[in-house]
Amino acid sequence: MTKIWNFINGEFVAPSGGKYIDDINPATGELIGKIASSQSEDVQNAVDAASVASKSWSSLSMEQRIDWLNKIADALESNKELIAETESRDTGKPISLARRVDASRSISNFRFFAKFASEQKPMEFKMDDAVNYVHRKPVGIVGLITPWNLPLYLLTWKIAPALVMGNTIVAKPSELTPLTANLFASILQDIDFPQGVFNIVHGLGPSAGQPILEHPEIKAISFTGGTQTGRIVARTAAPLFKKLSLELGGKNATIILDDADLEVAAKGAARAGFTNSGQVCLCGSRILVDASVATKFTELLLKEVRSMRQGDPKSEDTEIGSVISMQHLEKVESYVELAKQEGGTILTGGKRPSFSNEEMNHGAFLEPTVIGGLDINSRTATEEIFGPVVTLHTFENQEQAIEMANSTEYGLAGSVWTKDLARGRQFSKQIETGIMWVNTWLHRDLRTPFGGVKNSGVGREGGQWSLSFFSEMTNICVKHD
Ligand code: NDP
Repeated sequence: MTKIWNFINGEFVAPSGGKYIDDINPATGELIGKIASSQSEDVQNAVDAASVASKSWSSLSMEQRIDWLNKIADALESNKELIAETESRDTGKPISLARRVDASRSISNFRFFAKFASEQKPMEFKMDDAVNYVHRKPVGIVGLITPWNLPLYLLTWKIAPALVMGNTIVAKPSELTPLTANLFASILQDIDFPQGVFNIVHGLGPSAGQPILEHPEIKAISFTGGTQTGRIVARTAAPLFKKLSLELGGKNATIILDDADLEVAAKGAARAGFTNSGQVCLCGSRILVDASVATKFTELLLKEVRSMRQGDPKSEDTEIGSVISMQHLEKVESYVELAKQEGGTILTGGKRPSFSNEEMNHGAFLEPTVIGGLDINSRTATEEIFGPVVTLHTFENQEQAIEMANSTEYGLAGSVWTKDLARGRQFSKQIETGIMWVNTWLHRDLRTPFGGVKNSGVGREGGQWSLSFFSEMTNICVKHD
């Protein structure tokens, strides 16, 4: 049984209160670890370590910190398969997805920010009689709080820019998926990464996360998680004038215009709806289709969804695994029931699959589910379900499509499918989201701004935005003769 301890000052240490939480493999229900259930005292120890380490880490040159990022990327690369296997076991996601998305992206987060930081030019603004030099300094100790859907991917997305800008870190991963953060810490130990620069405090949000939000020495909080938790984070951290980045929930639309290539769009909509069992904040959980092509599109979509191979996450050909926990499965199923009460029709899925492998019948699986016939303003079509459930709606014209796409409290992402690229771009401008894709989904360039509007978040991460978030700027205006 793996015992997951905190990682403080370069050492694995038991939680001060001696309490642990179970870590379950959601695909089998098997107990795979005991996780430290930390509290304020553990956070204080992590802050103390980060505070001491801050002096030497922030005084390294940018080039030295870039070297460290590349060393971390190399070490992750050597452990890529182990990262993928560990993530798959902890989350119930297919091994192929864990390899392609989670492990790969964790490595490329470090490679990207190393290269991006090395390309930064000094910021200078000349006046007739003076020059303004913009000097970037680290923020200090930063708190990183992350969810369970893309555990190491999202954590490293924050760690890499925070480190390169000279900050030290106290991180709290989701208690549902602590294994790859723990593995990451042991990889840092293996490469003799400086002690205290990166610290992990495991445990529950209210007892281990809240003290991070409240700690006066932690100067910035980068949070990715649900909108309700985001409210707590904002309420706690804002009066302390901490820098805040909030990446929250989504209820994204996949919009099929009348001139779309329907075969391509059906494949794209299925991928956007069901990748990681629909547990990606960017997933297209509402599909809006022009009524004139709806019959053909629906037929293609259902064929695509029914052909998705759901099963053992360890199998190479599995495309859909479990959801994150039995508790989450029950929440997702409650939405399927709600959809029926709201007048929806289950077009495919809607029930737990049964497997010949008895072990997996204890897992948190739900068939990929498509629901038609719902009002666009129904609860099922507007609340974030975060599971393998999409709703399908038709529109009569482009104006109605825009209105429907914008009819939720969320505004994270979306995609539009059309053969007319100019039309796609023009259409995208009218959707209230932080990200729109035309004829693709989850196609990411890490230089671009990432984040949401409305209840999907505040601020942007990625490229320049991450470097700015994880630094403070001093403008030095030098008057010359
Ligand atoms: P939660 O909001 O439940 O949790 C996120 C993190 O916050 C967890 O580590 C959690 O700990 C912690 N937390 C909970 N309460 C507190 C608190 N009071 N103080 C400090 N930390 C706290 O989200 P989920 O883990 O359920 O993740 C799913 C959500 O994340 C979805 O809504 C999804 O849309 C969103 N998300 C957004 C993304 C984006 O980029 N916009 C990307 C990925 C996911 P614990 O686990 O112990 O509760």
